[in-house]
Amino acid sequence: MTQMNFTDKTKVAIIANGKYQSKRVAAKLFAVLRDDDAFYLTKKNPDIVITIGGDGMLLSAFHMYDKYLDSVRFVGVHTGHLGFYTDYRDFEVDELLNILRSDKGEKIAYPILKVTTTLEDGRQFTSKALNEATIKRIEKTMVADVVINKVQFERFRGDGISVSTPTGSTAYNKSLGGAILHPTIEALQLTEISSLNNRVFRTIGSSIIIPKKDKIEIIPKRQGTYFLSVDNKTYTHRNVAKIEYEIDKKKINFVATPSHTSFWARVKDAFIGEFDS
Ligand code: NAP
Repeated sequence: MTQMNFTDKTKVAIIANGKYQSKRVAAKLFAVLRDDDAFYLTKKNPDIVITIGGDGMLLSAFHMYDKYLDSVRFVGVHTGHLGFYTDYRDFEVDELLNILRSDKGEKIAYPILKVTTTLEDGRQFTSKALNEATIKRIEKTMVADVVINKVQFERFRGDGISVSTPTGSTAYNKSLGGAILHPTIEALQLTEISSLNNRVFRTIGSSIIIPKKDKIEIIPKRQGTYFLSVDNKTYTHRNVAKIEYEIDKKKINFVATPSHTSFWARVKDAFIGEFDS
C-alpha cells in the first residue's frame, strides 16, 4: 500500500461549540477523518474548516480564520435547526463525509464587509464582518452624518446604524426591519436602529441597499463613547471620527455541497415553517 504524501492530504480543522451534541459529532468526525489517509487534522492553515454548532459557531470560525480567506473553505454542521451557514444537520454527518471524500475543491463564495474605524486621535482599526457591523452611542442619542458614495445623504439621530452583508440580512438586519437579500447579490444594506423622525429631524426611514462600488461613511457629530459590534464581537471606543463600510475584496468560501444552494428553503425553514396549502 502506498502512503499519501503529507502535502497531498486535505488539511481539516474541526471546531465545535460546547454543547454535548456538538462534542459528540466532533468526536465522530475526528475519529473517521484521523483514520482516513486522504485527510490531515490540524487547526493550522486548514484547507477546510468544519464547524459544529450553529450559525454563531460559523461566525466564530470565520473570525478565527479571516486572515486565510484565500485558502480556506468552510462547511457547517448544525446541532439544532437548519442554519443559514450550515449545510448539514447532526444526523447527516455520513453524508458530509462522503462529500468530503469526493471533494474536488469546488466552492461557493459570498461577499463580506470591510469596516474601517478611525478615532479622533488618528488611530485606525480594520475588521471583516460576515453578518453585520453596528455603531451605537452609549451615553445619549447618536447624531451622525451618513455619506453614501461621497453624497452627504442625511443627518441621522437615533440609537444607531447597522450595515449588513447579504448573508447577514437574515440576522440582526431582519430584526431591524431590513430586507432579506439573496447572498449572490453583491450589495450592502444600511438599516437604521430606532431613528428619530419628526418635524425637525429627518432620515430616510427605510433600509437602503448599496451596490458593490459604493462606500458608506458614518461620521459621528458628538463626542462620547461608541459601542461597535462586528458580528459576535463588540468594542467600545471614545470619540470615533469616522466609520467606513465597503464590500471587502475577499469573500468567504464554502465547500460546494448539494444542499448549499437552497437559500429560500432556509429562509422558509427559519421564519415561516410549514403551512396548509
Ligand atoms: P446570539 O445572540 O447567541 O445568537 C444570535 C442568533 O442569530 C442565533 O440564533 C444565531 O443562529 C442567529 N444567526 C446568526 N447569524 C445568522 C444569520 N446570518 N441569519 C439568521 N440567523 C443568524 O449571537 P451569536 O450566535 O454570537 O451571533 C451573533 C449575531 O447575532 C450577530 O451577527 C447578529 O446578527 C445577531 N444579533 C441579532 C440581534 C437581534 O436579532 N435583535 C441582536 C444582536 C445580535 P444559531 O442559533 O444557528 O447560532
